[in-house]
Amino acid sequence: MSTSGSALRIAVFPGSFDPVTVGHVSIVQRALPLFDKIYVAIGENNSKRHMFPLEKRLDWLRLTFKDMPKVEATSYQGLTADLCIKLGATFIVRGLRNSTDHAQERSIALMNHALRGVETMFLPALPEHAHISSTIVRELMANKADVSAFVPSAVGLP
Ligand code: ADP
Repeated sequence: MSTSGSALRIAVFPGSFDPVTVGHVSIVQRALPLFDKIYVAIGENNSKRHMFPLEKRLDWLRLTFKDMPKVEATSYQGLTADLCIKLGATFIVRGLRNSTDHAQERSIALMNHALRGVETMFLPALPEHAHISSTIVRELMANKADVSAFVPSAVGLP
């Protein structure tokens, strides 16, 4: 089937990425064949406290995805659905680790659809990544544990 003349498939993968983990990277890698462009977008959510400053988290994303030309790291304020409209994205990508993720993500996905007609595509976390969260990685880092198995190598850089 020819794709000439058809709209580009653009997706947004939103999150805090505080810090980016190998679980996030896996979701992007698996979503790549489905899209022409994926924006990995850090939401600047005022109500969330972060361990790492926005610029650091963005640097880590840019370094991590530097060899994937279809991937671009960015940040945004406001609603993810509004970012999608701004970027021409018709899909949101999210990863699901467990039933808690599913319950939360389902209502957010339905709201984004109701607000802006944006569809959310879920990918299940691979079994080897299902236990990895930025929250746990932060806890490990705060206690000076070795996190190299859970984060891309860029996260070790100053
Ligand atoms: P948020 O603050 O929005 O929860 P995160 O940065 O924690 O953002 O996660 C962004 C997305 O990545 C979410 O869809 C989350 O479910 C997914 N995700 C997080 N960790 C993993 C993992 N280990 N495997 C697969 N998906 C993950």
